[in-house]
Amino acid sequence: MKKIIVIGGGLAGLTSSFYLSKNNYKVTLIESSPKLGGRTYSLFNEKQNDFYDNGHHLLMGCYKETLKLISELKTENKIEIQKNLDVTFIDENNKIYKLKSPKIFYPFNLLFAILNYKALLIKDRLKIIDFILDIACCFKEDLKNLTVLEWLLLKNQNDEAINNFWEILIVGTMNSSPDKASALIFSNVLKEIFFNGNNSSKFILTKNSLSEIFIHPIEKYLIEKGNNIYKNERVEKIIVEENFIKKIITNKNNYDSFDYVVFALPPHSISKINFYDLNGKNIYPLSQVHSSEFKYSSILNIHIWMKENIFKEKFYGLLNSEIHWIFNKGKHISITKSNSDGFINLEKDFILQEIYSELKNYFPNFSTENVLDVKIIKEKRATFIPDVASNIIRENIKSEFENLIIAGDWTTLEFPATIEGAIISGKKASQIIDKLN
Ligand SMILES: Cc1cc2nc3c(=O)[nH]c(=O)nc-3n(C[C@H](O)[C@H](O)[C@H](O)COP(=O)(O)OP(=O)(O)OC[C@H]3O[C@@H](n4cnc5c(N)ncnc54)[C@H](O)[C@@H]3O)c2cc1C
Repeated sequence: MKKIIVIGGGLAGLTSSFYLSKNNYKVTLIESSPKLGGRTYSLFNEKQNDFYDNGHHLLMGCYKETLKLISELKTENKIEIQKNLDVTFIDENNKIYKLKSPKIFYPFNLLFAILNYKALLIKDRLKIIDFILDIACCFKEDLKNLTVLEWLLLKNQNDEAINNFWEILIVGTMNSSPDKASALIFSNVLKEIFFNGNNSSKFILTKNSLSEIFIHPIEKYLIEKGNNIYKNERVEKIIVEENFIKKIITNKNNYDSFDYVVFALPPHSISKINFYDLNGKNIYPLSQVHSSEFKYSSILNIHIWMKENIFKEKFYGLLNSEIHWIFNKGKHISITKSNSDGFINLEKDFILQEIYSELKNYFPNFSTENVLDVKIIKEKRATFIPDVASNIIRENIKSEFENLIIAGDWTTLEFPATIEGAIISGKKASQIIDKLN
C-alpha cells in the first residue's frame, strides 16, 4: 500500500485524504492546529448549547465537486438547495427587493430575475443583462490585465448598477472590492453561475455546522480506514535530494517513509517551511510562493443569539450597508461583513455598537433587549485577493519535486478562494497520485 503524507487539514487536505483513502492509499494527515477544517471550522456555544461556524459559508449550485463530496459523505440532509434562485435584499429605508427567478425555462428565468430586480431602474437592469449576455463571448486575453471595475466601466455599467448589483456579487463571491478583483476570475465566476445550467445560480444554505457536513464525517472515515491524523503538529523543515522530498520534519516527529507528499497549505504557510538539501544547505524551491506578495482579505462575523427571532427570510443581502449578509438560523443569526479590512481591527465593543445601529436602521423592530448572547469572529486572512498579480503567480506555480503535489484553494486557477476551489484541488491531488501509479 502506497503511503501519502498530506500536510494541512483544511478542506483541500481533508478532501485529498478522503479520496486517497477511498482509493486504498495509506494517508498520514498532519495539521498544525488543534482542529481540522482550516478556514472552515465550527465552535460550540455552551451557554446557548449551539454549534456555529467561524463564518457562515454560502455554497452555490455551481459547486459541483462540493456537492459530489457531500453526496459521498451522505450529508445531503444537512444542506438546503434553493428550488430557484431567490435572494432578498433590503435597503436603509426597509424596502425589500427580490432577485428571484420565476418558474420558466433556464436561462430565461435568470434574465427575468434581473429584469424584475427593482432596486435598479429598468435601463440599468437591461444594461446588466446586456453585460451578462456578452460574457459568453469574452476572451481571456482581453480580461487578464483588467480589474473588475475597469471591465464594468468599459461595458457602460453605471454607479447604481455597480453599487446595487455588481458590488454585492463581487464582494460576496470574491471577498474583494471591484477595484482590486481580477476581471478574468470574475468572468469565470459569472460563467459558472449563469451559463452552467439552472442549478448553478441557486444558493445552498447549510442547515448544520460545517463540521457536521464535512469535517467530522471525513475524520471519522479516515480513522475507520486506519489512516493517521496528527493534530497540533507543525511541519517545519523539508529535506530534499535532487528532485525528491526525502524527509519531513515537524515540531514532534521525522517522517522518511512515504511515496508522495501533498501540500494542502495556503501560500503564506508554505513560505514558512524551510527546505534543505542533504548537506544542510537552505534551498528555495517554489520560489514564486516565497517571493510573491499574495495579499489577503478579511471577513468579520458577528453571531447573535436572540430571545425571539424577528427576521422573516432565511437570509438577507443589505444594500448600502456595513453589513453584507444576515443569515437567519432561528434564534441564532449570523452577520457577515466581507472584505472587512479596516473595520476588523476596531475594538469589539465599537464593532458591536456599529452593527446594532445598522440592524436597528434596517430592521426597526430589532432591539438589543432581545439579544441573549454575542460572539465576534475575526478572520484576518480569510481569503487571498484574486487580483491580476495573484493570477500571474498562481498560473506559474509548479511542483519542483516528483513526489510533491500542491493543493489548496489558491491552486484552482479558475476560482477565487472558495470551498469549491479547495475541494477541487484536493480531489485533483489524489487523481494526480493515482495517475502516477
Ligand atoms: C469567515 C470565512 C468565510 C468564508 N466564506 C466562504 C463562503 O461563503 N463560500 C466559500 O466558498 N468560501 C468561503 N470561504 C473560503 C473558504 O473557507 C476557503 O477557501 C477554504 O476553506 C480553504 O481551504 P484550504 O484547505 O485550501 O485552506 P485552509 O483552510 O487554510 O487549510 C490549510 C490548513 O493547513 C494548516 N497548516 C498551515 N501550516 C501548516 C504546517 N506548517 N504544518 C501543518 N499544517 C499546517 C492550517 O492550520 C490549516 O488547517 C470563507 C472563509 C472564511 C475564513
